[in-house]
This record gives sequence, C-alpha cells and structure tokens, in this order.
Amino acid sequence: MNILVLGPQGSGKGTQAKRIKAMYGIPHIATGDMLREMRELDTPVARELRAVLDRGDLVDDGLMIELIRDRLARGDTVGGFVLDGFPRTMAQAEALDELLRELGRELDIVFDLQVPKREMLLERLLRRAAEEGRADDTPEVIGRRLELYESETAPLVDYYRTHQANVVGIHADRSVDEVFHEVERSLESVEARA
Ligand code: AMP
Repeated sequence: MNILVLGPQGSGKGTQAKRIKAMYGIPHIATGDMLREMRELDTPVARELRAVLDRGDLVDDGLMIELIRDRLARGDTVGGFVLDGFPRTMAQAEALDELLRELGRELDIVFDLQVPKREMLLERLLRRAAEEGRADDTPEVIGRRLELYESETAPLVDYYRTHQANVVGIHADRSVDEVFHEVERSLESVEARA
C-alpha cells in the first residue's frame, strides 16, 4: 500500500505514520527526519541546510526531489511505503507523480489530517519542543512553518482531490487512538477494494 499523509506540523502526522508502519510493516519515509540526520554532517550542504531548517523555511525543491527519488528507488519500498513530509510544494507533488509513474506505482490513499485551530497546533508544537529539547523550535520558527504549510502545502489537498479519487480528510484534533482508528478503517476499505 502506497500511502501519503498530509497535515500541518503538530497534526500528529508523524505519530500516525509510525503506527501505519508498525501495522503494515512498510517503511516510514519522513523527509524531516532525513534532513535532521543530514544536518549533523560536516559538509557545506549540511551547513546550508542548518540555516534553512533553523529559519523554518522550506528546503530547495531540487534537493528534496533527489532525496525522494533515491529513497523510493530502494527495494524496501516495493511492498509499499508511508510518505510523511513530502510533497510540501506543487513542484514536489508534480515530481512525485512523475516519479511514481516511472516506477509504475501510484498512491493508494492520501490522508489529510486537519486541525482547524491554529492555537492547538502551536500548543502541541511548543510542548513537543520542550519535551524533545528541540531548541530550534521557537514560537517564531513554528509560526513560519505553519504559514508555509498554509500557503505552499495545504493547496496540495485540492491538487490530489482533482488528480486522485482517494483523498480522506480526518479530524486530527482528537486522541492518537481515535485518529488511528479512522486511519485504519480507511486503509481496510482500500484493501478490500484491491
Ligand atoms: P518535518 O519534520 O516534516 O516537520 O520537517 C522539518 C523541516 O524540514 C521543515 O520545517 C522543513 O524545513 C524541512 N522539510 C521537510 N520536508 C521537506 C520538504 N518536502 N520540502 C522542503 N522542506 C522540507
């Protein structure tokens, strides 16, 4: 099963993706995690990356597309994958379509995790920053990321609605278990159709 999870930071996207991974035994491809690993290297690219991430800005589309191209080419994705954090821009969404076409695959389902209240996202993100000691997650940087989500990434939901039948909106302002219950039900109905 090829799964895409969309949603702003703080919507619980990563948590749900990890649960899907555990349930279905497919790799969880999280571009944020990949970039956080890359930023620790001592290379010019890593230094540039640190500056972009620390501002809460988006990393260059070209680099992201290369990263995903390499990752999806790995054998462990053949039985499916859950993609979290990519695509974040229209250019990335178009590149992903192209890439999947080349690989002869398509997305089976796109989850849109919705949290209507910005205050709830901010609260969750500030709590996580404190718990995980992410010093880069200041209120200013968090605000910047949420802004970019609204302007660059949220429009992808409509893009997928017009290009793909299977977009499932989920109210993510509930407990992890409640949200996962709905995720599971949707995945079961996709499996039943296959
Ligand atoms: P995340 O853990 O998915 O919230 O990502 C953390 C940060 O990594 C984001 O705020 C961006 O700066 C960067 N990032 C992750 N995925 C992408 C992407 N697909 N395109 C551009 N930047 C990204």
